Amino acid sequence: MGCLFCNVLEKKIPATVVYEDEHTLAFRDIRPVAPTHVLVVPRKHIAAVHDLTEDDVTTIGHVILAARKVAHMEGLEEGGYRLVINDGDAAGQTVHHIHVHVLGGRNMTWPPG
Ligand code: AMP
Ligand code: ZN
Repeated sequence: MGCLFCNVLEKKIPATVVYEDEHTLAFRDIRPVAPTHVLVVPRKHIAAVHDLTEDDVTTIGHVILAARKVAHMEGLEEGGYRLVINDGDAAGQTVHHIHVHVLGGRNMTWPPG
């Protein structure tokens, strides 16, 4: 089957896209854990934070900027929002195509679970 989020990028799996540009795609999480829960992925397949190299610095920067744009578009800037990247099993990473969770619309707790 290959990579789930590469399939979303190739439109082989449907998703509710909220933003896209040359470097990134942002779509709604199918199991939202907050009123706004959007995933931002790079078009380039990178499995995880621990696989990032110097060559990916620009790509990952675009992902963070896209996450900020999504937060703005979703009206989250004033109240605040959380960006999350899970890396590896202990963090709960389940999809091995790097992604930023944009979470907002409710108060967050700290420390995270
Ligand atoms: P993580 O646990 O950090 O790897 O996050 C993976 C996220 O992808 C989870 O929040 C899932 O609910 C979400 N997810 C899995 N499959 C899909 C899909 N087809 N479309 C949108 N979100 C998905
Ligand atoms: Zn992928």
